[in-house]
Amino acid sequence: MKTKIAFFDAKEYDKTSFDLANASGEFEVTYYETKLTEDTVNLADGYDVVCVFVNDTVNSKVIDGLVAAGVKLVALRCAGYNNVDIEYAYEKIHIVSVPAYSPYAVAEHAMALLLTSIRRIHKAYIRTRDFNFSLNGLTGFDLHGKTVGVVGTGKIGRIFIDICKGFGMNVLAYDKFPAKDSGLNYVELDEIWEKADIISFHCPLTDETKHMVNKDTIAKMKKGIVLVNTSRGALIDSEALLEGIKSRHIGAACLDVYEEESDVFFHDFSGHIINDDTLARLISMPNVIVTSHQAFLTKEALNNIANTTLSNINQFNAEGRCDNELCYKCIKFGKCPKEHKEKCF
Ligand code: NAD
Repeated sequence: MKTKIAFFDAKEYDKTSFDLANASGEFEVTYYETKLTEDTVNLADGYDVVCVFVNDTVNSKVIDGLVAAGVKLVALRCAGYNNVDIEYAYEKIHIVSVPAYSPYAVAEHAMALLLTSIRRIHKAYIRTRDFNFSLNGLTGFDLHGKTVGVVGTGKIGRIFIDICKGFGMNVLAYDKFPAKDSGLNYVELDEIWEKADIISFHCPLTDETKHMVNKDTIAKMKKGIVLVNTSRGALIDSEALLEGIKSRHIGAACLDVYEEESDVFFHDFSGHIINDDTLARLISMPNVIVTSHQAFLTKEALNNIANTTLSNINQFNAEGRCDNELCYKCIKFGKCPKEHKEKCF
């Protein structure tokens, strides 16, 4: 019997990469354009696996619905899992993820946003298309010699740091769990807020990191600070960001993520009226660049996501466990039965 997968929030590029990875027809995949929510969970009835992305909801009610529907596995096709109640899922339903698919994709996008912003490429592109070859207002600044603060020095943060070093930048790093023997210049967060010309975020969204950029921390930053967020939107308090932009304290913001993105990102709202005033105001600013959670979107990353997701499902089917299982106990207590090739529950 083929494993039946209900695939939520499916986009054309997902279908292309998953159909390629499933060319042998080993899995029966139903693609739903809708997101997984409390209202759509009944679509999972009769499926073995649900495959979800960053803005699907996997809260306690959805988990209960999935269990009642007979679903055995939630396969995240992403690394971040702040949209999943993994504590509630423990002993009810297994959760697997794709911990790494292309950290280069995200780190390179962070640098692309930064360069676009500080060299005014987004403005120049529009001007020259209209045969306006004036340079007024396009003055940028050199990255060479500037100080970049990097918050989160995991897979993506480390690659971003290497890229910055290639530009001759000074790097200050912060991580709750600093990497030993990395040679990185780890400092306290306050030193990053105070000394950096640019700050790029590469840590997960947790209770601790939520709104780490707020009114108070912005006040500590240098005037003209450039913020780059390719991690999770809620690391930044968007109202405080908007105030910082309006007061001219923040020099620029490059956002691939936004705290209220789930109702807006990944959809075409051109021709519609956006209800989110904060987002609309941010987008209207000349020094704010927004991409809609696009940093992961490279061919390499999509193929890795599809292959790893299907091999996660295969391993779970064969062994009842998965190397990429997200288990609340393993994460919270560090006592990880899966290291001994045992089942988490
Ligand atoms: P990772 O797990 O390799 O690294 C995360 C790092 O953050 C770790 O070194 C960890 O110690 C550190 N960290 C944990 N808690 C922290 C805290 N309170 N303060 C500071 N640092 C802390 O993850 P990664 O693959 O490098 O991904 C980083 C983040 O990027 C993910 O959490 C995800 O939210 C985001 N992401 C975004 C996209 C996108 O398309 N925009 C794609 C993939 C990942």
